[in-house]
Amino acid sequence: MQRVHNFSAGPAALPESVLQDAQAELLDYRGCGMSILEMSHRSHAFSEVIQDAENTLRRLVGIPSNYHVLFLQGGATLQFAGVPMNLMRTGRAGYIVSGNFARLAWQEARKYGEAEALSSSEETGFDRIPDLAPAAERAAAGDLDYVYICQNNTIFGTMFSTLPDCGATPLVADVSSCFLSMPLDVERYGLIYAGAQKNAGPAGVTVVIVRDDLLGEGPALACCPSYMSYRTQADKDSMMNTPNTFGIYLCGKVFRWVENEGGLAAMEKRNRQKAKTLYDLLDRSEIFVPTAQPESRSISNVTFRCATPELDEAFISGARERGIEGIKGHRLVGGMRASIYNAVSQASVDALAAYMQEFEESRR
Ligand code: PMP
Repeated sequence: MQRVHNFSAGPAALPESVLQDAQAELLDYRGCGMSILEMSHRSHAFSEVIQDAENTLRRLVGIPSNYHVLFLQGGATLQFAGVPMNLMRTGRAGYIVSGNFARLAWQEARKYGEAEALSSSEETGFDRIPDLAPAAERAAAGDLDYVYICQNNTIFGTMFSTLPDCGATPLVADVSSCFLSMPLDVERYGLIYAGAQKNAGPAGVTVVIVRDDLLGEGPALACCPSYMSYRTQADKDSMMNTPNTFGIYLCGKVFRWVENEGGLAAMEKRNRQKAKTLYDLLDRSEIFVPTAQPESRSISNVTFRCATPELDEAFISGARERGIEGIKGHRLVGGMRASIYNAVSQASVDALAAYMQEFEESRR
């Protein structure tokens, strides 16, 4: 067996011990005589699995008791609609447009109410986090149902290093690509959600963390599908229908892995070191160009490119020959992207860094 250095943006590398653990339990889950894949979501064994996943996540992140944790399906994308359908009670919300997924969420919200772009970095190719001042000003006016951010921009390699000051206006954040990568102060937010397929588990599970008072009697819009009602999902413990049982089971194992590795502060320390390895090299390089502005750089996705697309291509194919996978940039921007989520080791990052140096020297 040979596992590659996996820099995929998601679905992404999972801790090897989690995969081995799941493999060992696959045919007979803890004496049940069947796989976790084969049992009812109403079974005692699965009830324990989902409860344990939630409890571990609550400990890990420090989720206060007035927040619900939901394990939903439909990816982060379904939340682009779920958020406005549930929370647009007066019909107006503000969006900070910091990248492609923030823009998609903003466009989706416009179907359901007045969604304002508070600021945007589109003009500079989303190379930075936009100005946060307009969000603070608009929030202070008190007529927005929420302010929305995408906290880490997976495609452009940028992340918020500070949050907009929204006062009493709920802050809603898509944290898909930075969830569990560093500590999270849940009380700063009204709602947080994350597609699991980067740091939290496999594709097919979306974790939603939502403050009680935002659930009200039900969604803001009567047309909201029952499935997407946070109120209903909270009341039914994410089991109003059949949940992604295997996905939730794997997420629970990843949460425990993060906890055993030292928790979110330990993850942040490692992720910052991995990011520093690559950014230091990029800043010294004469051939690679980092694409995010220094003050906005992500510690989850490191984006860069060479002088020409041909060189990018040569670099990516050479990487593959060395067992380095998943570094091709998103199709919208080209170039390269190294996603260095929790399960990507410093050793993998060092292997990539060594290859980058080798490539640079060979082209001098
Ligand atoms: N938001 C962010 C920040 C993402 O990175 C992605 C996907 N990579 C999405 C939303 C969309 O997620 P999904 O494919 O789970 O719908």
